[in-house]
Amino acid sequence: MLRHLGLAPRKGLGQNFLVDRNIVAKILEAAALSAADTVLEIGPGLGVLTWELAQAVRSVMAVELDTGLVGWLGQLFAGQPNVHLVHGDALSVDLADLLAAHPPAPGGSAKVLANLPYYITTPLLMRLLEEELPISLAVVMVQKEVARRLLARPGTKDYGALSVAVQLRAQPEIVATVPPGVFFPPPEVESAVVRLALRPLPQDAGDAAFLAAVVRAAFAQRRKTLRNALQSGTGPWDKAAVPAALAEAGIDGGRRGETLSVAEFVRLSAVLQRFRRPPEISNNP
Ligand code: SAM
Repeated sequence: MLRHLGLAPRKGLGQNFLVDRNIVAKILEAAALSAADTVLEIGPGLGVLTWELAQAVRSVMAVELDTGLVGWLGQLFAGQPNVHLVHGDALSVDLADLLAAHPPAPGGSAKVLANLPYYITTPLLMRLLEEELPISLAVVMVQKEVARRLLARPGTKDYGALSVAVQLRAQPEIVATVPPGVFFPPPEVESAVVRLALRPLPQDAGDAAFLAAVVRAAFAQRRKTLRNALQSGTGPWDKAAVPAALAEAGIDGGRRGETLSVAEFVRLSAVLQRFRRPPEISNNP
């Protein structure tokens, strides 16, 4: 098909096209689609998944960056009014607007499906989670090593800021591990289909941006104790209050940040928010 279109896979755009129907079926099955749902697809490529989605749901919003592929997709879906193609970068397209323009029918929900271009996996997942988009579920193909990070437990080497960000707002599950041969061209690594059932941030977490800053600080210097990490970073809290905040949250400051559970991060952040540092005033007019 690519040859016929005069195109070649572009490594820089993470183009590894699915060529195995079983995997397409697994992704669709994990999404438990209903006819009332809408789906945001990131990187439709040649449209293998998009085609199936168009038959199964109310509307599909498909965001593709590659001009050549957008041309082809325009032809393929010319007769399908429920497919809305967006030519753009999924990291900068206004996803909230797009989802609002194509809402699900009563009883349905908005979902994200994607065989992700691997170079945007982390920023895209962070967007989906932190922008609090009205999405109930995401089923994404990611590198296996990233899948491990999404599911990692405290104290393991894979546990990091991404694990906490995801587990705060979603229940992640590996649906399938996928060998390179199901793609053309085959990538150098194994992949995995991950299902993320989204849920709102716990209410006691308070300010989400503040919590994200606490998590970032805790993982910024993995070899430091939590107390030192929180006192040496640029987080928006009073550094002198860190020992008292840790004591109040019932967390030993001598531990390393990477040993804290998601619930402990929420508790610590809630206490530290009471010791918020006033914003710095710039001397520049
Ligand atoms: N969905 C197709 C499939 O499964 O065969 C293609 C998947 S391929 C791994 C990733 C797709 O994302 C490519 O079509 C690529 O051009 C597109 N892409 C890459 N970067 C993108 C970006 N920043 N925004 C939107 N699409 C992007």
